[in-house]
Amino acid sequence: QRFPVVVVGAGPAGLTVGCILRAAGVDCLVLETETREFIERRPRAGVIEEWAVRGLEQRGLAGNLLERAERHIACEFRFAGERFRFPYHELTGRHHWVYPQPLLVTDLVHEYADLRGGAIRFAVRDVMLHGLDGHSPSVSYMSPETERREVVECDFLAGCDGARGVSRAALQPGRARTARHDYGIGWLALLAEAPPSADCVLFGCHPDGFAGQMPRSPQVTRYYLQCPPGDDPDNWPHDRVWAELRRRLGADGAAPPAEGRLIEKRVLDMHDYVTEPMVHGRLFLAGDAAHLVAPIAAKGLNLALHDAFLLGDALVARLTKGDDSGLAEYEAACLRRVWDYQEFSQWLSELYHGGAAGDPFRAGTTLARLRRLFTSPAAAAAFAEQYLGTAERY
Ligand code: FAD
Repeated sequence: QRFPVVVVGAGPAGLTVGCILRAAGVDCLVLETETREFIERRPRAGVIEEWAVRGLEQRGLAGNLLERAERHIACEFRFAGERFRFPYHELTGRHHWVYPQPLLVTDLVHEYADLRGGAIRFAVRDVMLHGLDGHSPSVSYMSPETERREVVECDFLAGCDGARGVSRAALQPGRARTARHDYGIGWLALLAEAPPSADCVLFGCHPDGFAGQMPRSPQVTRYYLQCPPGDDPDNWPHDRVWAELRRRLGADGAAPPAEGRLIEKRVLDMHDYVTEPMVHGRLFLAGDAAHLVAPIAAKGLNLALHDAFLLGDALVARLTKGDDSGLAEYEAACLRRVWDYQEFSQWLSELYHGGAAGDPFRAGTTLARLRRLFTSPAAAAAFAEQYLGTAERY
């Protein structure tokens, strides 16, 4: 079997690359280790930046999203027992979209496989990449149907298989290096069957630890609670979770979080990494396979889409017009945004967690940083620009 492009991983990055290729009439094969049902339900991100939605729209991929996603125009910080609304739309004219990642993935799979006729194999096992140092790479995998190892040759490989995939691993050691940052902090990531208690994202910067509320839909709300890294989710029974959320998000005049059944409860160890180079021969990494940014600033999905737009367009230019320029510029164009978002994530982490570090000096500087957002128009503008992300600077 031979395809011009094999995409490893059917997450937002891989499926977007696949859709762009199919729209241009380029054949490709997407390989995914999970089932379709599983990827269509996996809960993760929800906040999508305006430029990313525009990018999806320009490629005919935002129909459902634009109909169903919620537009967010403000966020709210809670600290020192008070509420501070940050009206970013008023400051910038721009907004965030909230659309749960499983819905986006469902739309993209449907578009790629059902409407654009793209080839996709689910539930494959033991994916291996071959011939990475030459001009004709190939991929092999164990097929669930035949129980045999299938080999697929290709011209280009898109490594979109996330943080634990084989693409990044194939570049280590020797072909790439991964720069990593550990925050030394855990977040208990929760999904509750309950409506949000406010119409916007809430950041509770409390001396006992950060708490966040991210609305997902009228029925489901994501919450985060700072906890020790590696903590056991079983240490967080229902009553403890809701008591901590009420305390850390508590503020004068604020409604307490609406309690509901917890349908997801897991501990994330906050860390970031960037793998460079993102390109080796004809293998191009995209999304979490190349770089991970802790969910602190809700940037990961946006970076995955940015890479996918660039890679999809560049592969189309190469395969339909022989134009190599997009592929040559791919890595540098991705990394400018990646490092910018990584830096913002570090800055924001101190804002969220500095007051709970057990260090009175850091608690003082964190409070000053928080207050500055609401007293200095220049500081507010800088925060809004980075929080919303822009299309223009990269
Ligand atoms: P993935 O979504 O991880 O997709 C990779 C795919 O490859 C998966 O389907 C996987 O099953 C498959 N795969 C793995 N190994 C193999 C293999 N060997 N062969 C074939 N397939 C393989 N980002 C935001 O922008 N905003 C947010 O609000 C936000 N919130 C988040 C909340 C949480 C709790 C988490 C965990 C993440 C959050 N993120 C957020 C990050 C975002 O979800 C990721 O950055 C995004 O999913 C990356 O997309 P991707 O396509 O690169 O990788």
